[in-house]
Amino acid sequence: MGDDLPVITKLPDLDAAHARWAELRDLVEADQRAYYEEDAPLVSDAEYDARLREMTALEEAHPELASQDSPTQRVGGAAADGFAKVTHLEPMLSLDNVFSLAELEEWDARVRKSLDDERPPYLSELKIDGLAICLTYREGRLVRGATRGDGRVGEDVTANVLTIEGIPHRLAGPVGSHPHLLEVRGEVFLAVKDFEALNRELVARGEKPYANPRNTAAGSLRQKDSTITAGRRLQMYAHGVGALQWEAGQHVELERQSDAYALFQRWGVPISPHNRVVPDLGGAIAMIKDIGEHRHDMEHELDGIVIKVDNLAEQRRLGVTSRAPRWAIAVKYPPEEVHTRLLDIAVGVGRTGRATPYAVMEPVLVAGSVVRQATLHNQEVVRAKGVCIGDEVVLRKAGDVIPEILGPVTAAYDDGYPRRDFVMPADCPECGTPLRPMKEGDIDLRCPNARSCPAQVRGRLEHIGSRNGLDVEGLGEVSAAALATILPTEAGLFALSMEQLLPVRAVVRDAETGAPQYDEEGGQVWRAPFRKLDGEPSAQAGKLLGELERAKTKDLWRLLVSLNIRHVGPVAARALADWFGSLAAMRAASVEDLAAVEGVGATIAESITAWFSEDWHVEIVERWTAAGVRFATPGHPGPGAVGVADDGPLTGLTLVVTGSLEGFTRDGAREAIIAAGGKAAGSVSKKTDYVVVGENAGSKAAKAEALGLQIIDEAGFRALLAGRPGEADGAH
Ligand code: NAD
Repeated sequence: MGDDLPVITKLPDLDAAHARWAELRDLVEADQRAYYEEDAPLVSDAEYDARLREMTALEEAHPELASQDSPTQRVGGAAADGFAKVTHLEPMLSLDNVFSLAELEEWDARVRKSLDDERPPYLSELKIDGLAICLTYREGRLVRGATRGDGRVGEDVTANVLTIEGIPHRLAGPVGSHPHLLEVRGEVFLAVKDFEALNRELVARGEKPYANPRNTAAGSLRQKDSTITAGRRLQMYAHGVGALQWEAGQHVELERQSDAYALFQRWGVPISPHNRVVPDLGGAIAMIKDIGEHRHDMEHELDGIVIKVDNLAEQRRLGVTSRAPRWAIAVKYPPEEVHTRLLDIAVGVGRTGRATPYAVMEPVLVAGSVVRQATLHNQEVVRAKGVCIGDEVVLRKAGDVIPEILGPVTAAYDDGYPRRDFVMPADCPECGTPLRPMKEGDIDLRCPNARSCPAQVRGRLEHIGSRNGLDVEGLGEVSAAALATILPTEAGLFALSMEQLLPVRAVVRDAETGAPQYDEEGGQVWRAPFRKLDGEPSAQAGKLLGELERAKTKDLWRLLVSLNIRHVGPVAARALADWFGSLAAMRAASVEDLAAVEGVGATIAESITAWFSEDWHVEIVERWTAAGVRFATPGHPGPGAVGVADDGPLTGLTLVVTGSLEGFTRDGAREAIIAAGGKAAGSVSKKTDYVVVGENAGSKAAKAEALGLQIIDEAGFRALLAGRPGEADGAH
């Protein structure tokens, strides 16, 4: 039996390798057709790259698998029917890829070895995510634009290329100064802002938005109707030279690729502003890191950095393979766009009752983290994206940005997976109350059961504990969810006891969507945050009660934010607290008085008045007050802040400060007015005596002017405060 061993182990191994290679070949060929010829990828770039790399590894281990017609050796796809075919004068190659600095160092070592240990300067460029173009100029005149196709034969897209702004129809400079023949190689792309604008337009027209700028650019350039291309704001940056022939006697010797770029620039051919010539690999690595951090600040999408040997003689010495030059390498950044299965669309309810559909996906690694859920905002967005439950979808997570589903992988429609349309539920998934628009015409639906919908109570409790609220350590997402199981509303929050806390447990949920969270095995995550395994109170329980006690006397503005009054965030709450000094004074104020406070306005004022008209809201205030919550700023002089000094220089005067002053903060200016006996008003009216106008003053200054009020600057204001009104009057 021992003798048979090598045969038994070897044969299946080889067979398995061959079978796997054949399987990959079929997949990759289908991927290439869909991507290059139909501009509608079947799989994400990351998945495609992984397939190609696995094939390459198999070919390296089993050289008999490698052949010229393997997809690993191919450039792009065939030219599509419907376009005239163009044979490139020089082949348009692809680029070899590396995915790590270690692989890049190996490439650099190979290059240096081939150049007898020379350390060549490199040209470092952004790898623009667009599609390759070849522009042929004869005697300085653009005669043809062609796609790369399979590298040898491309598609004639001249009519479309002529519509691209920035591509010169004639090279700049005197007639006769241009090469007899020139092939400019470059990348056609769609800037991110133009892509987004295009998608906004499509959505506004009720059409489906495009998935990403690369496929949109490719689809736009390969249009049969060039008026469509013309409407797409495509751009181009040159990144290479193909054939180049000068008339005898006119020859311009180019030493480096960067010289060619300088020449292009003189001729008006656009060159990326981000290109760098660096002395060695260290410089290129610095660029990889720099750009990696600012990847999303660039005008176009990019998927890596291309490093090229700058010297053209050295490029020739290194040569090319059938597929790619040996003198260049593309360093790819981690993928930010992947494909995954949309398993379900569930609906979460947030703090304000808004019902948000969110995607539940097969977990997938994207831009460095595992993503399972993504918000879909509302039923209109689901419709506009054209996704069905069961679809294979394109998911994007750019850096720290929130994951977003871009749309279905249309090419995967017939993969046999069961699909169904999403239907927005009629009732709140948490409390069963019928959902309705907040006001007529709203797309977003809300659960109107603000008082006792568990999702909304949970959200409000979390908001109370948040940094912008009472900043209660121990009242985060998990404990808010736990407390919502024992508190019918937040009214009982400040009267909680340890006995109440101990038995509580709750499902952990996503902060934005309210979606239950799952562990690695797919089980719902439960927590009992206030109890240790032995049943004793946890440290968090003690901390929560202690922190709640401290929170009772925190700043008034924090308490105002914690009441969860619609539109009252920290900015408005500060303005209200400063002005009124107590919740009682605020409650007694009319809508007009509230709206007159600077930074408040009519919407917030009405929202505050409406809030106090609900009995259960008043109950919150009463029960918090009974539990010791202090809804007042100690020592505040009272609403309107009429001067504390009866006989100050501003007694009897009303001032409005608008714009920013150099020597005073907004609060500081108000305090100075009050201290001097004046009244600091929030808005300009006929009753205003002086309007102090600082830098960047807005509509209030204009209104003051229209009313013919006394306008003074900062110097005049100081003069007034100092009791020298004569100087103030002349100050403007
Ligand atoms: P490539 O895009 O990796 O590199 C070659 C191309 O890069 C060149 O043709 C050129 O047009 C372009 N490029 C951009 N900036 C450049 C610069 N500064 N200098 C030189 N060239 C620059 O190779 P490829 O063969 O065109 O396509 C492979 C890419 O397409 C990969 O990202 C791959 O994931 C993706 N792809 C995806 C699928 C799929 O099914 N999802 C299928 C095929 C290819």
